[in-house]
Amino acid sequence: MLDKIVIANRGEIALRILRACRELGIHVVAVHSEADRELKHVLLSDESVCIGPAASTDSYLNMPAIISAAEVTDSEAIHPGYGFLAENADFAEKVIQSGFIFIGPKPETIRLMGDKISAKRAMQAAGIPCVPGSDGPLDDDKSKTLQMARDIGYPVIIKASGGGGGRGMRTVHTEAALLNATTLTKTEALTTFGNDTVYMEKFLETPRHIEFQVLADNYGNAIHLGERDCSTQRRHQKVIEEAPAIGITEEQRDRVGTRCAEACKEIGYVGAGTFEFLYENDEFYFIEMNTRIQVEHPVTEMVCGVDIVKEQILVASGQPLSISQEDVELKGHAIECRINAEDPITFIPSPGVIEQLHMPGGPGIRVETHIYNGYRVPPYYDSMIGKLIAYGETRESAIARLQTALNEIVIAGIKTNIPLHVDILSDAEFRAGGQNIHYLEKKLGLQ
Ligand code: ADP
Repeated sequence: MLDKIVIANRGEIALRILRACRELGIHVVAVHSEADRELKHVLLSDESVCIGPAASTDSYLNMPAIISAAEVTDSEAIHPGYGFLAENADFAEKVIQSGFIFIGPKPETIRLMGDKISAKRAMQAAGIPCVPGSDGPLDDDKSKTLQMARDIGYPVIIKASGGGGGRGMRTVHTEAALLNATTLTKTEALTTFGNDTVYMEKFLETPRHIEFQVLADNYGNAIHLGERDCSTQRRHQKVIEEAPAIGITEEQRDRVGTRCAEACKEIGYVGAGTFEFLYENDEFYFIEMNTRIQVEHPVTEMVCGVDIVKEQILVASGQPLSISQEDVELKGHAIECRINAEDPITFIPSPGVIEQLHMPGGPGIRVETHIYNGYRVPPYYDSMIGKLIAYGETRESAIARLQTALNEIVIAGIKTNIPLHVDILSDAEFRAGGQNIHYLEKKLGLQ
């Protein structure tokens, strides 16, 4: 087992990783920016190192500073969490070259999956169903682009190969708009992602977003932990997630999940990962793979009883997965609300001091947050300040527990999106389940 790990992240996920390390008897080194000295996991860590000023480019994205912190504290491994450097193949490579263990897949796997075109090609080769589209980048031949869209059929979506975070995508409904939209997406992709490669996909009109969680080790073992439904989105960003996805049959789960696990073996995947699909008319279409722990991993943990972060650390320590596919049994239903420090109507971030805090409890309630009474939410980072997860025997009981818990929470001093969650959970369409990715924006009057 590893002895000491650097957590190269902040907020709730850094605390989640610290807790897993504590359970495994691993020492924790927290690295933090000048603005984050009072973060809960920093206060709880065995050692902490300030790696730079508040701006994440100078701290949480500062590769040499993070690797130096591992060196001076004599650590063995670096856990990147999610966001920041978690899917940066160059970082993973530098960590390994400097003599440390990167808690995640191999750099070449991150690189392969980080480029959406190469990821789709690899998945197609592994027998994973993909969204119909251009078999590679769009070139400069305009007549070919026009012909391709005619073949695929409108609407189509132009996507940046290096895109992420819901950016670098443009939907096109008519031939007249195609070439202009392609040029715009290319320009945007170059400025945002430093790479102007774009490709074309059929735009699925009313899909659900359903993703499969996988775990793999260095000994050729790969398993899946079932699926999550993350269709409740705003601006392609997830707001509420749940497991399992209602309406997905045991047969579909086994078939698609097993194929994902097999694909992991084929590409030599190691660690925790997620295969994201759009689901429409009973068909799954792969869109991308996330090569890291995800924000929504707790809903899967709640229904299968596996600690995904601990498995990541075990695998990185050179141990085999502690469970096999036969051990995975899904039970009950779990739903997660992402709690953001933002205005519930305008979505404008609302940093500031938490003047009063009461967190909920009771059967089936799990709170993942780093905030505490008197903590100042800094303005420099993502506005997510925590997650509330409810488990129930049925979806209805999970919703009822979540509603009870949301009504118990008191977070004074800043605005949060809790009123939005209360509203969604009492909405008939959400309660019926199986809504598509446009549900929330339509409800908010944004579409
Ligand atoms: P990112 O890496 O930026 O998260 P994804 O490829 O995972 O991008 O897509 C994010 C979201 O964009 C999806 O959950 C879905 O809402 C929408 N989307 C992506 N591709 C398509 C498509 N072909 N048809 C319809 N919606 C899509």
